[in-house]
Amino acid sequence: MHARTRRGALARGAAAALLVLVLGGAATACGKAGTPPPKGPDQGALPAYPVNRAADVPDSPTWKAAKERGKLVVGTKADQPYVAQQDPATGAYSGFDVEIAKMIAADLGFGPDRVEFKTITSANRETALQNGQVDYYAGTYTINDNRKKLVGFAGPYYLAGQSLLVRADEKKIDGPQNLAGKKVCSVAGSTPYQRLQKDYPDVQLVGYDSYSVCVDNLISYQVDAVSTDDTILKGYAAKVPDQLKIAGQPFSQEPYGIGVPRGDRAFRLAIDDALAKYEANGDWKAAYDATLGLSGVPAPAPPPIDRY
Ligand code: GLU
Repeated sequence: MHARTRRGALARGAAAALLVLVLGGAATACGKAGTPPPKGPDQGALPAYPVNRAADVPDSPTWKAAKERGKLVVGTKADQPYVAQQDPATGAYSGFDVEIAKMIAADLGFGPDRVEFKTITSANRETALQNGQVDYYAGTYTINDNRKKLVGFAGPYYLAGQSLLVRADEKKIDGPQNLAGKKVCSVAGSTPYQRLQKDYPDVQLVGYDSYSVCVDNLISYQVDAVSTDDTILKGYAAKVPDQLKIAGQPFSQEPYGIGVPRGDRAFRLAIDDALAKYEANGDWKAAYDATLGLSGVPAPAPPPIDRY
């Protein structure tokens, strides 16, 4: 077989295997011999968040509408291991950001059976909040001034940084300075995509709706690197460490916030209070340890909340 064809065939096989791992997480989908089974959040290790029956946010139109409806609608991601991932078999969402969303809901008076998650991609977050499609959004959502013109942000509750994911045998890329002429995949509407476009114009930028598609493209040699937050990339790398690795150090600061409708200050401040409560009572750390912590990095201290 021609080397290139063989590489293509191998890459296609690997891509299919990854797709199963990333999207399915099926226990039978172990890779080559000796590869550990994919670790997902250990349900037993997750804290239970007692529902605050006395919750009342009378000045918040979003909270009042949710109370009348009988449930909260929360936007998140579906394909980011350890952060926000949907099980295709059960439809259930899991990961650090999903836990953050659930703890906030409990403090606002809504148990897990009264939270409906909706998958919203990076590019559609602001519109979803503006149209009332979701009450709040928890999904690797960087707080910045441009977005603050369109939505409000509670938090931050975590500080991430833009990084690069490459194939495990990659030797030439260890930072954004090595990317000239390289094909780099990211998600349209994300801050990493915008940063590459603006600060690294020599990069051949490839944009998709979701990062798992970028990762499939990396494994099948369609692109040379995937760039987004280290939190997201660590999740993909941890699933198939023999195929993927993080290259170099983070090169931005991505403070994660909970997106809320812009005008609803009372709602935003109630969520800030909830975050502060769970950071103080140990649930934030327990949730991190049972989710994102599985990708190998010990829990950092959460960043200070900005009650603007
Ligand atoms: N945190 C970055 C952002 O909000 C990248 C991750 C994402 O696309 O969700 O754009």
